[in-house]
Amino acid sequence: MTLIKAAVAHAFGQPLSIEEVELAHPKPGEVEVTLDACAICHSDITYLDGGWGGSLPAVYGHEAAGRISRLGDGVTGLKPGDAVVVTLIRSCGTCASCCTGRPTGCETAYDGDKGPLSMPDGSKLHQAMASGAFAERVVVAQTQVVKIGDDIPMDVASLIACGVITGVGAVVNAAQMRPGQDAVVIGAGGVGLNAIQGARIAGARRIVAVDMLPEKLDIAMEFGATHGVLATGETPWVEAQQALGRGADAVFVTVGAAGAYTTAPNYLASGGKVIMVGMPATGAASSYEAGNLAAASQAMIGSKMGDVVIQRDIPWIVDLYRQGRLKLDELISAHWSLEQINEAIADTKTGSAKRNVILFK
Ligand SMILES: [Zn+2]
Ligand SMILES: [Zn+2]
Repeated sequence: MTLIKAAVAHAFGQPLSIEEVELAHPKPGEVEVTLDACAICHSDITYLDGGWGGSLPAVYGHEAAGRISRLGDGVTGLKPGDAVVVTLIRSCGTCASCCTGRPTGCETAYDGDKGPLSMPDGSKLHQAMASGAFAERVVVAQTQVVKIGDDIPMDVASLIACGVITGVGAVVNAAQMRPGQDAVVIGAGGVGLNAIQGARIAGARRIVAVDMLPEKLDIAMEFGATHGVLATGETPWVEAQQALGRGADAVFVTVGAAGAYTTAPNYLASGGKVIMVGMPATGAASSYEAGNLAAASQAMIGSKMGDVVIQRDIPWIVDLYRQGRLKLDELISAHWSLEQINEAIADTKTGSAKRNVILFK
């Protein structure tokens, strides 16, 4: 056991409290990572607000980077001191999904209640999203981490763990966009900006960003959007289709609002696909006209974590960053200490486009 400082959620909708908690040593196949950075994702906030339920008390945080500080038995290819990105994608490697190249759909359940965290009195502390990264250290499966070079700043590396792979992966893995195709990205936040960058890298002809705030459309243009459309109008899809000259081949919904899913098919060209990335709260439903989708050979496709294979896709993304082809520094709005986490979360809730990052040193 190691005593670490963590931001603990005791009740939904309440501020986190910074406390000392116990972290067990890694089991076989697991590693301990001493974190340098953890970004705040909207998924953390949905959980913290109780939108998806779950066990309490809990430690959230799942977009992290740090250095290996302890190895469980049987771990190969990593050593103490290695810089790694820590993701929430815990994959067994042997289930049907893992064996068919879809580790994000791993069918082997992981119970965060039986994870490495506990309160100092020995009572249960839930490791949320198989990570618990609003803490100085995490213990996770080796399959959740990817080694990166020492040249990548840790704040930047933390973003790769979730928002970046989710946005870029939705384009290249879920939509499988080809050069010359047209994209619409609904929501120009942390994930949306990465879907925009992904579409640019994939060779999209035109990329329309759709958002409620004009300043976020300006940022979207800096990340590669060719047009911006305000979502506050009656029929933003008409403006988007005017910008494209047609409907879109791929529409990425990167916000967790059920209403955005209801209108997303309106942006599509014949044969186009809606890629469903943002996750509304449990129970939130949206509707669409099935006949229209059938008549135009259109599809709605869910995409969890960009359908990434982290060991394949993260080294590629890191190289894109090194070569100046992927903007990551520009995604960070501010740095905060762990003690400031409630302020950082409040700032993220204002809907600002970019990521707030907790630094542990
Ligand atoms: Zn996330
Ligand atoms: Zn599996």
